[in-house]
Amino acid sequence: MATLFNGDVQGTSGVGMFTCDVCGHEWTSSKLLPCEICELKADNATMREELELERVRLAACGVAAMQNTKNSIKERIDSDNKYCSQSYIDVCTAVDREIALREKLARLVEAAKHYIITPDADEITKRLALHDLRVCISGVEDDK
Ligand SMILES: [Zn+2]
Repeated sequence: MATLFNGDVQGTSGVGMFTCDVCGHEWTSSKLLPCEICELKADNATMREELELERVRLAACGVAAMQNTKNSIKERIDSDNKYCSQSYIDVCTAVDREIALREKLARLVEAAKHYIITPDADEITKRLALHDLRVCISGVEDDK
């Protein structure tokens, strides 16, 4: 008889009584194989492995959230990495948006400095700064 575990089932304690050779579990149900305790242990081991994988995937999301510079995003894991998940990709997408917004804000501040703060700027510099401000606000040149 084929078994799903390495033990065997034997009638040891009278009619309908079975003992698992692997774990020693005894049962009297009509179900002979496999031993439900051994099955549960195998399921538990599988679920522990899956939980550990998901823990690391979650930690990877936290790392991706902290890698929010052009330099640090180079350390991202690839999509074929077993610790990459859709959530990891979503975090990376949000971080990319954050980086783009910070860059846009920096350009906006620089343009504003030239246009508003620098009182002695010549007319051409002010016009260019105003153009930069409009581009930053409208995002026209950003949506390539
Ligand atoms: Zn067993």
